[in-house]
Amino acid sequence: MPVDFQPSWMDEDLTAYRDTVVRFLETEMAPGDEEARRQKTVGREIWRRAGALGLLCTDIPEEYGGPGGDFRHEAIFYEETSRRALNGMNTSVHAIVAHYLLNHGTPEQKQRYLPRLASGELIGAIAMTEPGTGSDLQAVRTRADRTKDGYVVNGSKTFISNGGQAGLVVLVAKTDPEQRARGISLLLVETENLPGYRVGRVLDKMGLHAQDTAELFFDDVKLPADVVLGGVEGQGFFQLMSDLPYERTIIGVQAVAAMQGAYEATLAYVRERRAFGQAIAEFQNTRFKLAEVATHVKVARTYVDRCVEELMAGTLDAAGASMLKWWSTDLQGKVIDECLQLFGGYGYMNEYPIARMYADARVARIYGGTNEIMKEVISRSL
Ligand SMILES: Cc1cc2nc3c(=O)[nH]c(=O)nc-3n(C[C@H](O)[C@H](O)[C@H](O)COP(=O)(O)OP(=O)(O)OC[C@H]3O[C@@H](n4cnc5c(N)ncnc54)[C@H](O)[C@@H]3O)c2cc1C
Repeated sequence: MPVDFQPSWMDEDLTAYRDTVVRFLETEMAPGDEEARRQKTVGREIWRRAGALGLLCTDIPEEYGGPGGDFRHEAIFYEETSRRALNGMNTSVHAIVAHYLLNHGTPEQKQRYLPRLASGELIGAIAMTEPGTGSDLQAVRTRADRTKDGYVVNGSKTFISNGGQAGLVVLVAKTDPEQRARGISLLLVETENLPGYRVGRVLDKMGLHAQDTAELFFDDVKLPADVVLGGVEGQGFFQLMSDLPYERTIIGVQAVAAMQGAYEATLAYVRERRAFGQAIAEFQNTRFKLAEVATHVKVARTYVDRCVEELMAGTLDAAGASMLKWWSTDLQGKVIDECLQLFGGYGYMNEYPIARMYADARVARIYGGTNEIMKEVISRSL
């Protein structure tokens, strides 16, 4: 009996949904992946296609144009993309944007943006990080100054996922630069034909090559008064904090699925490849390494499943989600490294998915809050 890595929360409907996701990835996404890696973007059309199939913002209710599923639907998309290292669409950031709107937006903001995010007409991005500050979010310098009919925004952001194509940017800006957390607001910036808004370089990264991670510039960008998420200034930091368990669970789900994908690819490879007259899979070292990897995936699966269930029940706290984020991404790095070793030199070649998984995995310890910051958060709860 092969090891079973099925999530504990699957059911018949979700199995059918998973089939739809897999069909989409294999027939529509995978064929364009090489080109997307070269172009550093998957393009807009694939987003619209995913939206038309009901694969975006899956946990957004139907009344806002979403498919009306729950977090398990989101998780399935992350699992199947991460297992295949098909990471060109950053649907997690997109889903987080939708969640900010759902949880904190005014009724008008929800109606205006959620249906367009769910359809893929708008691609979402979150712009927190600046050239001078990342972990210390309260030190952001981008400012939104009040004018008589709205705001004027100045500043720059970097490392912004989906930044190249984003039609809706949730911008972290200071509406009161004198204050730290209480001075921060989230502004909903529609970027199309917006004077003063500019996408800078689409950055050349070590991995995640098909993603358009970009610099964004705001030079005297004029915005109307109703752009503040939720309509009240100074709430941004608290809005960001309240959705962290959601974001960190996504990263945990992706980490476990990436480990599983690496295990599956390695198992297939070592059974084919031969040395000293036998399959690599026959060496005791290979069998032991794969036994360890399978155990790691299985244990990680158990904890991530528990976090998914707690998230859906509304009981996952910041410390629990931070534990998942640092531990699973740390393990992801180690497991994929062990798997790559079993490929020998082929493991170092980008044409092999294991090499891409290795490079893609590295950033998981850095983004979504670095793993050091995760330990800070956990240590406060001890
Ligand atoms: C591919 C990619 C995609 C990204 N996508 C986005 C995005 O969509 N939106 C966005 O806003 N940002 C995004 N980021 C930015 C990412 O969130 C930041 O890089 C991350 O938060 C770290 O910030 P920093 O790079 O400024 O590092 P720094 O904050 O300068 O940290 C440098 C080092 O110091 C450590 N450190 C900092 N503070 C402490 C502390 N208090 N205790 C101990 N150690 C500490 C860090 O852990 C790290 O090891 C992305 C980054 C990458 C690489």
